[in-house]
Amino acid sequence: MSIINFAVIGYGGMGSYHTHHLMPIEQDRVRVVGTYDISGERRQISKDKGLQAYESLEDVLKDDNIEAILIATPNDSHKEIAIQALRAGKHVVCEKPVAMSTQELDDILAVAEETGKVFMVHQNRRWDPDFLIIRELYQKKIIGSVFQIESRVQGANGIPGDWRHLQQHGGGMLLDWGVHLLDQLLWLVDSPIKSVQADLSFILGDEVDDGFMSYITFENGVRALVEVGTTNYTKLPRWYVKGLEGTAKIDDWDLSGEIIAATGRKDVQAPAPIQAGVGLTKTMAPPSEEATEKLSFPAPKADYSPFYQNFYEVVREGAEPIVKNQEVRKVMQLIEQIFSITQKG
Ligand code: NAD
Repeated sequence: MSIINFAVIGYGGMGSYHTHHLMPIEQDRVRVVGTYDISGERRQISKDKGLQAYESLEDVLKDDNIEAILIATPNDSHKEIAIQALRAGKHVVCEKPVAMSTQELDDILAVAEETGKVFMVHQNRRWDPDFLIIRELYQKKIIGSVFQIESRVQGANGIPGDWRHLQQHGGGMLLDWGVHLLDQLLWLVDSPIKSVQADLSFILGDEVDDGFMSYITFENGVRALVEVGTTNYTKLPRWYVKGLEGTAKIDDWDLSGEIIAATGRKDVQAPAPIQAGVGLTKTMAPPSEEATEKLSFPAPKADYSPFYQNFYEVVREGAEPIVKNQEVRKVMQLIEQIFSITQKG
């Protein structure tokens, strides 16, 4: 079946990444024909790369050669562009966060429904190798039933760029990395949320959050701590996950870390007390050698298609989207809940 021709709207950091890295991987299915960016400089770069540089969004939308668009503009413009494109008969891939609110998403979905065009959000971190390991541990109970998940990303560079500092453009870290981590969490734990506590940080004096901590409990008993920081000169592990029979720690995207699991042997010595600071402790002493073993990380491959392959199959064959709009909606609702319970302070 024929290749889907795309135009990329917003040819900045992520628009370029889709154009020159992500779509070429699926070159038998998708192809970037051209781009539109409000910046003349970016339009010139697009031309220099041999792409068609459209002068306006309207020019893209009236081009019958374009079947789909990718939206990679600042967050506040996603809704307007998505609705115009759907009404013009284009399929739409939209960068995360899908929009500024659940209401905006609902407005987009109503038009997608009305026009019968595909609308799919690029929640790409469902394919991250570290996440796939955690998902495998969770689903296969490699460390027993998981009851605690800590998911963190921490940097020391503050909020990057320009528009990410501004509320009107949907800046801040909850709408940035927060969307990825919460999407992973809700996709992993198949249980309704029971309670949410959260705290946004404003350490750097921006009008938007430069990070946050959130504590989410699920009805199945799983407790999760999700944290994003931009003022961390040394960082905590990317993942720290406890199961009834072991603990897993993934330090970073390089997949360093370890799984320590209980052997379940009955013949082990009780741990001997150790000197801890100026006192003694048995509670915090390491378990005796026979009580635990080190396991290797599983090497899971995603049991679902890569994003653009899946998008192609959704458009051409009516396949199920791997990123479902109702999942995206739940993440948006959780984000709104976090905003509503946290105060700038
Ligand atoms: P960026 O600032 O690098 O690029 C945005 C581009 O959009 C700029 O070139 C700007 O001139 C252009 N632009 C702004 N308004 C426009 C409009 N109305 N029409 C056309 N062009 C317009 O930003 P970025 O880092 O590329 O982020 C873009 C989007 O991608 C955001 O929604 C962001 O959250 C998302 N993103 C996703 C990931 C991911 O891993 N999925 C990573 C980075 C960014």
